Amino acid sequence: MSTQPDGPGVVPTPDGPLVETPADHPGEADGLGRLWTPHRMVYIGGQDKPGDASASQCPFCRVQGGSDEDGLIVARGRTVFAILNLYPYNAGHLMLCPYRHVSDYTELTVDEAAELAAMTRTAIEALRAVYAPQGFNLGTNLGEAGGAGIAAHLHQHVVPRWSGDANFLPIVARTKAVPELLADTRARLAAAWGAPSQPSDGGEDAS
Ligand SMILES: [Zn+2]
Repeated sequence: MSTQPDGPGVVPTPDGPLVETPADHPGEADGLGRLWTPHRMVYIGGQDKPGDASASQCPFCRVQGGSDEDGLIVARGRTVFAILNLYPYNAGHLMLCPYRHVSDYTELTVDEAAELAAMTRTAIEALRAVYAPQGFNLGTNLGEAGGAGIAAHLHQHVVPRWSGDANFLPIVARTKAVPELLADTRARLAAAWGAPSQPSDGGEDAS
């Protein structure tokens, strides 16, 4: 539960628990429902995009000041950090972002671009150690026309993939099945982040 009940994204309900809004967490709403218990009390359902492109409206900027657990931050580098997507395509779907509120790849400094590339490798290694995926999608959507949900703050997706993970549910039911809570995903990836490469201990086929 948030330690800031009066924070900008927390909506008090008459008698019930506090409910956060998804706008407090980074992610690109895709209109799909998800078959899981949402992260803490976040209500996931709307197209809660930032009101404008300023840093004060930006969830990638806002989460930097809070705890890793509250913000679903997996790792913090010098200039770049790793954070879970509130709207994961698969378990372990994370994003790498510069701390600075910049929107275009060409605005990254040489240092930021280098650390983004290095953290991409670390992310792949951590995801392999925890989930043993069979493939990955790496990508950045630049601009709203490019498909970015939060276009004002550059973020690169790292999506673990398995054969057959694009199943019928998104087509027939607009629903994704995500078999792990985000808090658990964050803890597992944070523990594996930067650890020496080793075979998966989950019994999955890591070949
Ligand atoms: Zn930002």
